[in-house]
Amino acid sequence: MDRRKFIRNSSLGSAGLLSGSSLLSCEGETTKAAVAAESGGPIAVCTWDFANATARAWEVLNQNGSVLDAVEQGVMVEEADPENQTVGYGGRPDRDGVVSLDACIMDSEGRCGSVMALEGIVHPVSVARKVMEDTPHVILAGAGAQQFALESGFKLKDLLTEKSKNQWLEWQKTSRYNPIINIENHDTIGMLARDKNGNLAGACTTSGMAYKMRGRVGDSPVIGAGLYIDNEVGGATATGVGEEVVRTVGSFLIVELMRQGMSPQKACEEGVARIIAKNNGKLDFQIGFLALNKKGETGAFCIHPGFSYRKYDTQGHRNIPSESYLKS
Ligand code: ASP
Repeated sequence: MDRRKFIRNSSLGSAGLLSGSSLLSCEGETTKAAVAAESGGPIAVCTWDFANATARAWEVLNQNGSVLDAVEQGVMVEEADPENQTVGYGGRPDRDGVVSLDACIMDSEGRCGSVMALEGIVHPVSVARKVMEDTPHVILAGAGAQQFALESGFKLKDLLTEKSKNQWLEWQKTSRYNPIINIENHDTIGMLARDKNGNLAGACTTSGMAYKMRGRVGDSPVIGAGLYIDNEVGGATATGVGEEVVRTVGSFLIVELMRQGMSPQKACEEGVARIIAKNNGKLDFQIGFLALNKKGETGAFCIHPGFSYRKYDTQGHRNIPSESYLKS
């Protein structure tokens, strides 16, 4: 059940590091939060329970690092961890056995960078940052992204660990190509942070859906889908089946809903509800959003197959009683 864990921080009243302390229920499952925050001050939140990542971001924020450094270095913890098979080194490969990574980053000025289907580089988020800072472009993909990374001083590394390779070999024996329902084999770290001055940044990085088609790119490196920051309003990031998030331009939607006055929590629920509505109420995939507003308030919401969505109508999902719904 680990991979169904998601976060929503409750109140962040006390000062200090709260990694792993807040609780939420995602379809009734109690989860650990990956939150680092100080009341009215800096905050770093990320999808799932990657508490080491928020702890690192928190360290950077408290050493007067920039909020951009904080999100980059935060997610790098997971990119480097071979035990995390959904991000970076050790990530599960595509169906041809190649680990192919997607990442993006966005700062408080609205600048952004992204790499798609990048192979052989442990830290795609840092390459995305280089794209943002050192080129006139926003996105580099595939072989070109790798060439740029090498020219920028990144080193090539075989990202396929024995563990991931063996699982892939096993999958080949038993599986047919149907990643849509494969909910346990994809996850992403999306991180949002705010510094003590209220400036926001975000980063998102993933090895994408396990055993995906070669060349498949999800939402995670797509600005507006997997991540969006608007320093006037807030930021959002997504995890789950990327195709669904791209179709809805999910993270941009969440930020725009916050701009219209919704709380981060409400906005995440509404974003999920839109996706359900677009699928006529059919739910055979996992989706989650995480949001942070300018004031430092957070919200998150996720669903997965088996989730009871009967409270949604197929039209406008306007009647969702979010609080009772969360508890049901
Ligand atoms: N959103 C990612 C993708 O579709 C995977 C995930 O978050 O689970 O590539």
